Amino acid sequence: MSQKITKKQLNNWLEDVKPLVNQGKIASYIPALERQDPNDLAVSISYVNGDTVSCGVTKKTFTLQSVSKVISLALALMDHGEEYVFSKVGMEPTGDPFYSIAKLETSNPSKPLNPMINAGALAVTDMIKGKDVSERVERLLNFFRNLTGDSSIHYNTEVATSEFDTAFLNRSLSYFMKQTNIIKGDVEELLEVYCKQCAIEVTIEQLSTLGAVLANNGKEPRTGRELIPEHFARICKTFMVTCGMYDASGSFAIEVGIPAKSGVSGAILGSVKGFGGIGVYGPNLNEKGNSVVGLKLLKRISDQTQLSIF
Ligand code: GLN
Repeated sequence: MSQKITKKQLNNWLEDVKPLVNQGKIASYIPALERQDPNDLAVSISYVNGDTVSCGVTKKTFTLQSVSKVISLALALMDHGEEYVFSKVGMEPTGDPFYSIAKLETSNPSKPLNPMINAGALAVTDMIKGKDVSERVERLLNFFRNLTGDSSIHYNTEVATSEFDTAFLNRSLSYFMKQTNIIKGDVEELLEVYCKQCAIEVTIEQLSTLGAVLANNGKEPRTGRELIPEHFARICKTFMVTCGMYDASGSFAIEVGIPAKSGVSGAILGSVKGFGGIGVYGPNLNEKGNSVVGLKLLKRISDQTQLSIF
């Protein structure tokens, strides 16, 4: 396992990949995401002992988007246990894009194949307990606040509203799953909770802290306090390996080998057991929806420090 990375090393790697910030495209299907600055680039490493090193636009916040799916899965597992959660959502990669509707109809039994694709994540968010939308959102926010140690964590209202107003595909997936009894609650309420969950904003250091908790088997790095039961943290990291980078998870596992979860904001969360969490952010995406510069940076970090878990 690698030793600690200095700020100078991290900064050098960031400078090396910087010329690539203009490659790829910002996600535009959520209109508010287009306001992100394509030149933004940030990286952070949070170790399991709580130490952190960060470079780039460290003061900026960005929305988690699909990165939030790992954390909502942990909360749903804590709310309901493994058996119930996996009665509604499967454990297998799809090989399809994250927004695909195709396998919902063709797979048998009719449930989304895993919690990292949109269909599966919607089914998971439907399970988050609470008497109404605001209590469910508040529970999600409080979970993120506990994990990052920052009580001011909130969602970006503009991004949440923008996604809610244009979530035609996620609505379709949800109404389909309402018909097949995977979704129990009201679909419009589910979409409101889901869009707010995806719009939760963090800094790069908070992103890497989420990874550090998972890397530390669910325990808060500095205190050792259990925030996620170890077994559930393991389930989350395993999905990051098999499904976290959408339909590029296989090649990413070979090339980088770090359990990771990507989001269309350009954020990627990495987590290496016993080492720590890695956050990278750069809004321009490749055709699979992964941050171009983020991928390069993770590969650089993994190569230079032998962080691949394989
Ligand atoms: N909120 C986004 C959506 O559901 C998240 C997708 C993503 O980051 N891949 O479309």
